[in-house]
Amino acid sequence: MKMKRFFELEEKVLSYYSNANIGLLKKAYLVATQAHMNQTRATNEPYIIHPLAVAGTLSDMRLDEISIAAALLHDVVEDSDEYPIERIEDMFGQEIAKIVAGVTKISKISTIDADTAKAETIKKMIIAMTVDIRVILIKLADRLHNIQTLGPLRPDKKKRIALETLEIYAPIAYRLGMGNIKFQLENYSFPHAFPEEYREIKEAIGDKEDWANTQLENMRVELQAILDKYSLKGEIVYRIKREISIYRKLKKQDIDLSRVYDLLALRVITDSIESCYVVMGEIHQKWNHIPSRWHDFISQPKANGYQSIHTTVITEKNVKLEIQIRTSDMHKIAEQGIAAHWKYKEGIGFLDNDARLEWFRDMITMHKNNRNPLDFLKLVKDDLTPNEIYVFTPKGKVFNLSMGATAIDFAYAVHTEVGEHCAGAIVNEKLVPIRQKLNSGDIIEIITKKDSTPSADWLKSVVTNRAIKKISSFIQKRENIIAISKGKRIWTRTLREIKKKHKAKYSEQELKDKIRKLHYPEFEPFFRDLGVGKKNLDKKTLKILFPEFAVEEVIIKKKEVKKNNGIYKLINVDGYNDIDFAFAKCCNPIKGEAIVGYITLNRGISVHKESCRNVKKFVDSKFLDVSWNEIDDHSYLVNYDLIVSDTPGILNSISKVTTEFNSNIRKILNEKHSQNSSRVTLSFEVKNISQLNSIINEFKKIKGMFKVIKKRK
Ligand code: MN
Repeated sequence: MKMKRFFELEEKVLSYYSNANIGLLKKAYLVATQAHMNQTRATNEPYIIHPLAVAGTLSDMRLDEISIAAALLHDVVEDSDEYPIERIEDMFGQEIAKIVAGVTKISKISTIDADTAKAETIKKMIIAMTVDIRVILIKLADRLHNIQTLGPLRPDKKKRIALETLEIYAPIAYRLGMGNIKFQLENYSFPHAFPEEYREIKEAIGDKEDWANTQLENMRVELQAILDKYSLKGEIVYRIKREISIYRKLKKQDIDLSRVYDLLALRVITDSIESCYVVMGEIHQKWNHIPSRWHDFISQPKANGYQSIHTTVITEKNVKLEIQIRTSDMHKIAEQGIAAHWKYKEGIGFLDNDARLEWFRDMITMHKNNRNPLDFLKLVKDDLTPNEIYVFTPKGKVFNLSMGATAIDFAYAVHTEVGEHCAGAIVNEKLVPIRQKLNSGDIIEIITKKDSTPSADWLKSVVTNRAIKKISSFIQKRENIIAISKGKRIWTRTLREIKKKHKAKYSEQELKDKIRKLHYPEFEPFFRDLGVGKKNLDKKTLKILFPEFAVEEVIIKKKEVKKNNGIYKLINVDGYNDIDFAFAKCCNPIKGEAIVGYITLNRGISVHKESCRNVKKFVDSKFLDVSWNEIDDHSYLVNYDLIVSDTPGILNSISKVTTEFNSNIRKILNEKHSQNSSRVTLSFEVKNISQLNSIINEFKKIKGMFKVIKKRK
């Protein structure tokens, strides 16, 4: 409830606390009005709107007059020189002054570094608990009003404030069991924190709104029938899930928006625990429920005191609906949390033994043991948001990633360039593979290599949206390049045959006019379609393209494709199975050697040894992950020069070695090298690199073998 006028606040407080000291509230209101006299909010409204709104939120929580007065005064000390904290204490007493001082302290963050500031904020919030929990309640209400009234701030500033709200304030509200405040903080922050995602989700929900409401209304009628059947008192409410909940679901499950069908939620609020179980029983009898999503938080309340039964049913029409069942008391606690237990009449703060405070006590202990604010931030954040991890650069910069994130995710979080060239990672001073999962607190350094590029495989090892998007688009782009080059190759070969056969000549423009007949404005999309097989140069197509020739005369390209078929199977190219490739002549890789693929414009993929000198000169974005096909049976011809002593029987020794290792000699030639040595030029077949290495090792053991020289060709 937004309070625009003091008397509204007064009425509200009196409505739940008839003996409230209204004089005290009036005094606080007057001081606040005076202190903020010449100030305006970012929205251009008079500043007093803000403390009134904060006090209003606290009155929604039905808090005591001390809290409300402190809320009215919460910005006075900070904003006005006339009212130092001593004066507040003189005027309003120690208790109010202590709370105001607590709130003021949290606002004052000394450091400029954003991550340390975040750590400091959390630390201060938690320490404030030791003073009085009401400090936190005011701080939450303060943030709520601020996030509701960001006004004409710069989008990046809004985003920062919104993110901070989602990362710190909402989780703290959750810890205190204050569902209502938590929901509001999230709902107001989300559009600023993730504007694009918000818009997308909102649109997607919009499309389904009518459908969703019909489903919900149908289910409401069914649930009402259950209540009626047992004459139970109860209320049924429903809603489409919030954008932020859907966002989290999308992020967690890595699915796209069209598949988030379970956005429907209903709540049954009954008058007794027995009724809750009766309703649950009936629901489970009537519809199938998803066992993994059935939770009985009534018999086993959450740590923050939350109680409710959750279950998700699937209707006959295959619609998923989440149903929560709780009593009205449980509902009140779920909405208000710790504030629901406020004993304003006794005027004593919160019950000390409230279980919800235990987490804060743990945090305070942790804080005492942790001098470094960043360590402390990590600990608190782990606990506040268990689905996220906090990792650091060696310089101490903090990155917030989803649980399960790997070094690749981290690399992309640092910078797209770093992601696209990451080759390894040093985690906590140890070298690890880039697919290594990270833990909170890890210190990570990414090793980049110019020639290292993303592979489709990486998608299995990343969880963050950013990395998924960037890798997919990289692969998409590369796929395009490959398709175009492959298509171009098919086209060039076919054209070559036609030109040869008919002694024809075509200008670039003539060819362009030809493909226009197939409704391609440019070569590129035509090549791409040829490359992916969406278009074929079959008889029919060729007739359209080259009406000047008789159809049956046209094509002889099958042979060429066939020739390459055998070799296709030697190499696996990253998800493609019929890519044209050739072994690079410069390094002639042999099965088992580390290889890379490189996209050439005219010759498909050329496969080089990773260690090839030429590879270092290539353009990064054209590399492809390739690997040897384990089941192929291809033989690779290798050429060596062996410098040997002129001893009889040495050729015999050489051929014995090759025979021993099941290799065929294709060519062996002996010629004089120097006075007492010969050069044996040898070509032999190997199946893989380990076979070759064994043979070379044996060669070197032959008596009279001076030198084993690998030849390029
Ligand atoms: Mn404020």
